[in-house]
Amino acid sequence: MEANRITADMIAPCGLDCSLCKRALAEKDPCPGCHGPDENKPEFCSRKCGIIVCQKRKENGYTYCDECPDYPCADVLEKETRYTSQYPLYESPRKNLRDIRESGIDAFLENERKEWTCPECGHIVSVHTGLCSGCGRQYGAVPVRVDEDTWRIENRMVRFFLLKGTEKALLIDNGMTVRHAKQMAETLTGLPVELLNTHADMDHIGCNEQFDSFYMHPADEEQYRKSGKPGRVIPVLDGDEIDLGNRKLRIIHLPGHTPGSIAVLDISRRVLISGDPIQEHGHIFMFGEHRNMKDYIASLKKLEGMTADFDEIWPSHSDLPIFPDCIRRLREGAEKVLNREIPGKETDFRGQTIFVYDLGFTAFLCSE
Ligand code: SF4
Ligand code: SF4
Ligand SMILES: [Zn+2]
Ligand SMILES: [Zn+2]
Ligand SMILES: [Zn+2]
Repeated sequence: MEANRITADMIAPCGLDCSLCKRALAEKDPCPGCHGPDENKPEFCSRKCGIIVCQKRKENGYTYCDECPDYPCADVLEKETRYTSQYPLYESPRKNLRDIRESGIDAFLENERKEWTCPECGHIVSVHTGLCSGCGRQYGAVPVRVDEDTWRIENRMVRFFLLKGTEKALLIDNGMTVRHAKQMAETLTGLPVELLNTHADMDHIGCNEQFDSFYMHPADEEQYRKSGKPGRVIPVLDGDEIDLGNRKLRIIHLPGHTPGSIAVLDISRRVLISGDPIQEHGHIFMFGEHRNMKDYIASLKKLEGMTADFDEIWPSHSDLPIFPDCIRRLREGAEKVLNREIPGKETDFRGQTIFVYDLGFTAFLCSE
């Protein structure tokens, strides 16, 4: 397959970039896009799509729908809603048309190539699946329903969670590369959605700008502001409760990985959503100025005294679910690291020297 086939003839009248469609990226009989011959096009796109069959568009010879006085019609709005909320990646056909008007088709295509080309292999990533058509890497946010009112959303190396009550829903973090977590969460739950951040590391605050305010422990606000992201912090402290309507959540402050790291106890389901401090087969980052191993050990000790309250732990990285016995093993391992009882392996990590302490079941990444 030819890499990087993002060309003007693949931009549909509504603004959708057909190059990103899983059917256009299929190895066998790829769809030629909206403007191409009907052969290899699915029936919807050749005969049923309101935009493709639109008489007004044909009679007036509009290249793009924004030339039409009825723009945006119901068909255009339906497509816009679908592509900005229901797929693992975010594509706004209406924004595409605006960008084409403002910067011209060549600049738009160049930008589109930058945004949708896999940096690892140079092939195109599909908006429908989030998968690179060349190497198969997942770039999107893929919601997995855990029970009727609970989702985990996988976003490459990190995951975040969506919990629904009877009154509102809570998004716990929002990944790293996601631009539409709010729309996605609203579409999945049909309720107003609030945001909580377990901490302010970049892989947990990817689209915080979609929310005017969010729950966060105040000890992480300084770190959050360094990201340059906007929004008002609604402070949450140890022991605070958030009620989503028939679903109470308790905040547990676990400083160490960051000063304001928090876990969320889903009280009735007996699940602890732990953020980064608790992981199996993961890499717990303990290097950098805002980490503190002594605080981390104290947090694990505190959590060891609370294991009667939960049966499962859902971390942001690596294995899921994991179980409360992991907390003791992590605490014992962390004490050995602090007391220099196990050797660290010197490694280069993105230009800085760090030490990896491999416990067998997980590893700490430390600055010394
Ligand atoms: S299937 Fe439809 S949306 Fe996909 S490339 Fe073909 S015409 Fe475009
Ligand atoms: S915006 Fe106008 S041209 Fe486009 S599908 Fe709607 S009615 Fe037809
Ligand atoms: Zn790739
Ligand atoms: Zn983190
Ligand atoms: Zn993380």
